[in-house]
Amino acid sequence: MRRENGVRFTTVLNALVGCEQAVPEDVWVEEESQVIVVAVRPKSRARRRCGICRARCPRFDGGAGRRRWRHLDAAGLKLYLEADAPRVTCRRHGVVVAAVPWARHDAGHTRDFDQQVAWMATECSKSATAQVIRTAWRTVGAILTRHQAEADAGIDRLAGLRRIGIDEISYRKGQKYMTVVVDHTTRRVVWMADGHGKDPLRSFFDALGDERSLRLTHISADGAEWIADVVAERAPNAVRAMDPFHVVAWATDALDAERRAAWNRARHQATDPELARRLKHSRHALWKNPEDLTDRQQAKLAWIAANDPRLHRAYLLKEGLRTIYRIAADEGAEAAVQALDRWLSWAVRCRIPAFVELARKVRRHYDAILHAIVEKLSNGLIESTNTKTRLIIRRGFGFHTAEAIIALVMLCLGGNRPTLPRRQPA
Ligand SMILES: [Zn+2]
Repeated sequence: MRRENGVRFTTVLNALVGCEQAVPEDVWVEEESQVIVVAVRPKSRARRRCGICRARCPRFDGGAGRRRWRHLDAAGLKLYLEADAPRVTCRRHGVVVAAVPWARHDAGHTRDFDQQVAWMATECSKSATAQVIRTAWRTVGAILTRHQAEADAGIDRLAGLRRIGIDEISYRKGQKYMTVVVDHTTRRVVWMADGHGKDPLRSFFDALGDERSLRLTHISADGAEWIADVVAERAPNAVRAMDPFHVVAWATDALDAERRAAWNRARHQATDPELARRLKHSRHALWKNPEDLTDRQQAKLAWIAANDPRLHRAYLLKEGLRTIYRIAADEGAEAAVQALDRWLSWAVRCRIPAFVELARKVRRHYDAILHAIVEKLSNGLIESTNTKTRLIIRRGFGFHTAEAIIALVMLCLGGNRPTLPRRQPA
């Protein structure tokens, strides 16, 4: 009877630990801190292995003694695995702490715990994640970085790329940038780096390799010169296209410049302070797509048309440029190209400096804009990947490294979302 209980007890402990290569030896609850501790040791074939390369090596010493790893909670209590942490002498890595089968090297959490955190960070809000796992958001960043590094080791994300989008995304109020490469075919983020400019982009092409770079057929990007230069240098066979949402963003910027100019004009004329005030607050009515306007915003637009025809003309120019992409989707490329040419001749003669300048910019990038329309290269899905990336980067604030932010984006949008530990992937 007693022996049978012993066997059952071991079965329960094994289930708690959930690692085949670990042998549970004891378990207790620490009254004061209300944590469960399971003492474990690695099975003999998992012992005396280098923490970095897992090669079998001779023992060096006992290291810093017993160590604990945070594991998945049990019954609402924190659970720790506790074990010796001896050091070994590796032929390649010198004296290092021995590997343990339940955790990654140098980690204070088990693999199962890391995986749960990775799942939560990609599926739940920041505060929910931090509350459920009772860990600082900063620690989440470190966990994601090592989880992602290992997940990435077995995957070649750059295999089979043909049509890609390159984007620079600013964060920390435009002081820092990340370079993001998206696969147009799978809609996945395939590569990301901290910083922007020629060097980070060249390191993408280095990772891709010359042979695969030559196989790229289409590359979409914004109008940045440095992207055009590096693409010409490294992927000469690819057609360069301009992402529509960048073109629309230019038009929105031009409209905003004209709105500010209109406000300044009204302020300096000082005949009607109400006019200046209302212009100042017209930003949303001018920015939104007409189909999304509220009644109040529609009234505001009508008011602008009556009181500042020039600003209203600027609004119509912005909408006109946006409509070209709708025409491309509804009526085909040929109609869209005709509409683009009509828009250009209208904008050049509009006498609104911001839009005359925009017309010049559109003309400079005419071929790339055309390619996007004709090849149907860019569409809402790419923009939505881009928007999602921005939101995730913003969530990654509070992580202490750019690597952690990149890990979060790759886990969310790299096409390999984490699963919960000990469950079959859905
Ligand atoms: Zn080693």
